[in-house]
Amino acid sequence: MNATLPEWLNPSPDETRFREMLSPESSWTLERLAAESRAITLRRFGRTMTLYAPLYLSNHCPSGCAYCGFASDRTTPRSRLEQDELHTELAAMKNLGISDVLLLTGERTRNADFDYLRRSVETAASHMQRVSIEAFPMSTEEYRELARAGCTGITIYQETYDREQYARLHRWGPKKDYAERLDTPSRALEGGIKTAGLGVLLGLADPQQDALMLYRHIRHLGRTWWRAGLSISFPRIRPQTGGYQPPFSVSDHQLARMIFAFRIALPDVELVLSTRESPAFRDGMAGLGITRMSIASRTTVGGYTEPENNKNGQFHIHDDRSTEKFCKALKAKQIEPVFKNWEHAYNGPSSPEPAPPAT
Ligand code: SF4
Repeated sequence: MNATLPEWLNPSPDETRFREMLSPESSWTLERLAAESRAITLRRFGRTMTLYAPLYLSNHCPSGCAYCGFASDRTTPRSRLEQDELHTELAAMKNLGISDVLLLTGERTRNADFDYLRRSVETAASHMQRVSIEAFPMSTEEYRELARAGCTGITIYQETYDREQYARLHRWGPKKDYAERLDTPSRALEGGIKTAGLGVLLGLADPQQDALMLYRHIRHLGRTWWRAGLSISFPRIRPQTGGYQPPFSVSDHQLARMIFAFRIALPDVELVLSTRESPAFRDGMAGLGITRMSIASRTTVGGYTEPENNKNGQFHIHDDRSTEKFCKALKAKQIEPVFKNWEHAYNGPSSPEPAPPAT
């Protein structure tokens, strides 16, 4: 293992059960995993599903990620929302019933820099109950400022933990820095951000190995920042501008096994499934392990006020059901859609906490 990378990336003796659950050859059948995962989900989260929606602030990006429709060599038209446009976009989202928003940008550029992001968080916090970001890696001090502006969560995917594949896929730009990205959730939590969401882009590398590394990462964060809220997302690669073909395919069975394994191994971690997935798969996973889903998503800048422009999104969505239709499907499974379970009250930045004693 490269000396500059942290110790927690190394195998650990207490991950045997998680490895077994990931393996289709183990005694953990899919049915056994589903039953256990369902029971834990019910016990820890009840019959609820927290709902959020993404909002793209800008699609300017200097990076060259091979799998992304916003990479700097794509011909996608570029734009960013000005603050008055952001107010309009947020109002359109509120009309859809959304009060939990995830703001997205590409990597840091002059068009979408830290100051722009901080102002956008302030604007979003004036409309929404919960504001999270999926943006470029920042310093601890910048995260502290964002927390003061009303940001409560970050999402940052490592994309893949396979370093050789990471180097190949991130052809140029700031996202090439594997180690900096790996450390980003820690800096955010140190800066007072309350929740961190991790994930890998399934299909970029061996999915079982990526799931194992993701497990190590989230456990490391849970031990260091044990008061933080942690979540894991399960994005599978979707068609996008550029036509990237992933080297690994991840079947519904494989993905379901992964979700159940994470639920059983990490009972308190929020598990997230986006509109990248089909209505049938999302309906199937609701209640079996997933506790947070996006709805009514648009993946273009200004997509809520100009939905006809959605063909130039970062990727194509699969579940395009309306809020009403999706909530009806949840209710048919006796699952209560939750649009708001968070009243934002900023209490100052959190400090690193000592790990609780091992049991
Ligand atoms: S994945 Fe993010 S950083 Fe990479 S090209 Fe797309 S927007 Fe830019």
